[in-house]
Amino acid sequence: MGRKRNQGKARKAAKAKAEDAEGVKKLQQLGLSHAKMLQDGTVFICLHGAGPLCFEGICHEFVTAFREEFYAEAFRKEFFYAANHIGDSLSSCLIAADDATVDEFAEMWNDSAKMEIAKSCFLSEGAQHILEGEYNHARENAVFARYLEQTIAIDLLKTQATMNWPKINELSRFVLDPTIRGDVHTLVKFFRKRIPCSCLDKKYEEVKSITKMGMCYNPDCPIPCAYVERSKTMYCSRCRSVTYCSRECQKAHWKLHKLHCEKCAALIAKFEAE
Ligand SMILES: [Zn+2]
Ligand SMILES: [Zn+2]
Ligand SMILES: [Zn+2]
Ligand SMILES: [Zn+2]
Repeated sequence: MGRKRNQGKARKAAKAKAEDAEGVKKLQQLGLSHAKMLQDGTVFICLHGAGPLCFEGICHEFVTAFREEFYAEAFRKEFFYAANHIGDSLSSCLIAADDATVDEFAEMWNDSAKMEIAKSCFLSEGAQHILEGEYNHARENAVFARYLEQTIAIDLLKTQATMNWPKINELSRFVLDPTIRGDVHTLVKFFRKRIPCSCLDKKYEEVKSITKMGMCYNPDCPIPCAYVERSKTMYCSRCRSVTYCSRECQKAHWKLHKLHCEKCAALIAKFEAE
């Protein structure tokens, strides 16, 4: 008797599962690959940590303005077409977006809680782009999120001395060759670590064996587009704000890097004294 009832239960469960799979298939056809069909037939769509403040109010306005200012600078400088500016283009666009929003959005820049919300907006959007296979859009969001994350650490929490630009550049590369855009392993790992859900777990399994790539900041680096395996790069030990593929490249770049290096080294010394 007991066994029969269990068999009935198992049959019911199998039927529910088949309907579930059918429902999921339909959702996938609609492009909602991350949507889940719940037991009762309702659909659950994860926002990967974005709250209501991502969709209206000051945080939403700031996120929109920051992105617009970033692209305004990129188009002004025609950076999308410049092959030689490897790291500089990205950093100058981020700094321009920062400068352009710092007064109007002082309320944001001075409040780590609000900045965390802005960061979560970029993270949520980027995670969704990854699920849809839109890696270039995900890269934009990753760059914005990491820039805000480091700004919060430097200016508000005082847990970091200077901007670690290689950490931003490794998520996206603005060079002429569209195939050189930062590896997908680094990109997926960045979002997966920061979103509160498990939506990227499966994707991460797919990409975790891809070699992580870094860059050499010497504009005359002999490696094409200075695109180097990350494990083979080294930081400038004084400023930790640039990476190189070799001692030769570090030496060759020193004349250009010296001023920036000294400025950063002074900030680090001040940070460590406090
Ligand atoms: Zn999610
Ligand atoms: Zn987008
Ligand atoms: Zn090099
Ligand atoms: Zn340096």
